[in-house]
Amino acid sequence: MVPLQNITVLGSTGSIGVSTLDVMRRHPDRYCAFALTANSRMEELFQQVMTFQPRYAVMRDEDLAEALRNRLLQAGSDTEVLAGVEGLVTVAEHPEVHQVMAAIVGAAGLIPTMAAVKAGKRILLANKESLVMSGHLFMSAVKESGAELLPIDSEHNAIFQCMPLDFAGGLTQKGVSKILLTGSGGPFRTLPLEQFASVTPDQACAHPNWDMGRKISVDSATMMNKGLEFIEACWLFSASTQQVQVVVHPQSVIHSMVQYVDGSVLAQMGNPDMRTPIAYGLGWPQRQVSGVEPLDLIKVAQLDFQAPDEARFPCLRLAREAMEAGGTASVVLNAVNEVMVDAFLNGRAKFTEIPAVIETVLGRSPLVDAVDIDTILRADETARLLAREQLNQ
Ligand code: NAD
Ligand code: MG
Repeated sequence: MVPLQNITVLGSTGSIGVSTLDVMRRHPDRYCAFALTANSRMEELFQQVMTFQPRYAVMRDEDLAEALRNRLLQAGSDTEVLAGVEGLVTVAEHPEVHQVMAAIVGAAGLIPTMAAVKAGKRILLANKESLVMSGHLFMSAVKESGAELLPIDSEHNAIFQCMPLDFAGGLTQKGVSKILLTGSGGPFRTLPLEQFASVTPDQACAHPNWDMGRKISVDSATMMNKGLEFIEACWLFSASTQQVQVVVHPQSVIHSMVQYVDGSVLAQMGNPDMRTPIAYGLGWPQRQVSGVEPLDLIKVAQLDFQAPDEARFPCLRLAREAMEAGGTASVVLNAVNEVMVDAFLNGRAKFTEIPAVIETVLGRSPLVDAVDIDTILRADETARLLAREQLNQ
């Protein structure tokens, strides 16, 4: 009998956060919500706290934290409310926490996720941006603290499932020749190129297979999501950029594959529902019910594969080049992408300006060794300033 696990869900009001709570609710004898956190959706966090009665709730903003505190007090809840990054760090590294679901979106996830890593927790990593920003530091901290890193991004979870045990010993030694990272190609896979400049946020967020937060949905439409995942795969599995190949697979039934020297290719399949990788991460090495519909291959009928089109999706090339350049290049890539996606979602930038400004700022940013978190945060901040300058021109 596994003892009850205390779980901190960073970003519990988001798409991954809600799916995580859905899986946890199916196993009340295994998982207990220790802390739930949100950025601005106070009312949603209030409802979650009333349902799960965690020890802590964290709001990013102090005023909203105070409002939540009052609301909970009136409702008779004894959940303690914390605020800001300090609050997130407290619940990420708390000695009573067993697992931390890192599901904050973007660079904001870096500090709390790193805190969980350094405290040696089991990290369920959805927040790919934190690994993209701090790859080497992040992976070294995992080794040093003995944290368990379970990838939640569906592709990396699939790769993890198809990898040999002890792959950390080196891919080549274990007979792995390639990681085949699949991606649906997003909503604009077949859209005529001349229409790219006029696509709207709602069109970009209407993903054909996955229901996700708005930032990652735009990333999927530009294929920057696949670019970030390419970098993520290199770090998670100690793979060179030549060992990771992006394959477009529009049905999103195969979530990624591992190719071996003997000619075998192992694939992990399933319906596109994040509760599968979440349940896998929470329960590893045991399997458990997730609530996901069983896959009906007869209904799927067909699986297609294509090479990615980098003329259509320059973000893929930019991400690969940033990984190859090393240092803070991936920090710049990620920071400018966040600024541009936000600008696009708020009607201040065209869809096609996202890769254009990333390329311009990357060209103007010095390459610095990402030796510590301060260096990374400085590179992030400078890149955001440069991106905003470009936007205001
Ligand atoms: P989302 O926008 O739905 O949710 C984001 C969560 O982060 C919310 O709870 C929000 O309150 C919190 N948050 C946002 N900004 C914050 C800040 N500054 N400080 C503290 N908290 C903040 O996003 P999502 O789709 O759930 O994605 C979360 C992460 O998981 C992203 O890194 C994304 O790339 C990754 N991911 C998501 C999916 C998916 O299916 N949604 C799949 C794979 C990976
Ligand atoms: Mg993914």
